Amino acid sequence: MMTPDLTYIRCTPENGYSLVKVYVSATGLKEFETPFVGNELIRLHSIIEQKKKINQDMCKIPCWNPNCGETIIISYENKRDFLIRYFRNYGKVVFPFCSKKCRDEFETMISEEIPLTKNGELKHVEP
Ligand SMILES: [Zn+2]
Repeated sequence: MMTPDLTYIRCTPENGYSLVKVYVSATGLKEFETPFVGNELIRLHSIIEQKKKINQDMCKIPCWNPNCGETIIISYENKRDFLIRYFRNYGKVVFPFCSKKCRDEFETMISEEIPLTKNGELKHVEP
């Protein structure tokens, strides 16, 4: 299924609320209008409200592996746990990673047994 180029909700006195999808192509615009039926509009409204709440409660932070460019979406509560609560309870900051692979790689990097190159990358050591 193609993704519409534009999606919006139209409200007219004669048809009420409907979902409008617009597709743009070389030959012009194609518009598909689907009226909301039953409680679809109420459900959509509650989904939008939940999404707004989720967006307010969440933030993006970088993966703590310096070789990784991923970001992680976590709640502010989790962020406070990572940066403050764990430090107060366990005396150390707990870093968030995007994956177990990144965490394992980071733990190898900070382990003193593995030598690093001048720019902080892991030296490849033959076993
Ligand atoms: Zn990562």
